[in-house]
Amino acid sequence: MTDPDGDAQPSTIDVDRAVGIRLGWPDGLEIEIDLVSLRLSCPCAECRGLRQRGEDTWPRPGSPIPLSISDASLHGAWGLALTWNDGHSAGIFPFDQLRRRAEEPDTRT
Ligand SMILES: [Zn+2]
Repeated sequence: MTDPDGDAQPSTIDVDRAVGIRLGWPDGLEIEIDLVSLRLSCPCAECRGLRQRGEDTWPRPGSPIPLSISDASLHGAWGLALTWNDGHSAGIFPFDQLRRRAEEPDTRT
């Protein structure tokens, strides 16, 4: 663990639009996160606000079911930007946060 930055970015990123994402890091850690868990932890301001009010971030009234990812792209080197099939695209999931939640599954933001 001499290179903290080297840990931050996964070496493999697989997005299955109907299932979830799988990330692999150079040190061998692999995590899989299903779509609903991802969406429920969307880090954008809108979803954080909903969670603070005790509301679910998904499904919202009128949400297309089942949930799926319509687009995924890298946001710089530090995160994954996801567009959902209901048009929501404000959330960027930082890799270090995804990794931390795999290592400490009880920690919720
Ligand atoms: Zn959101």
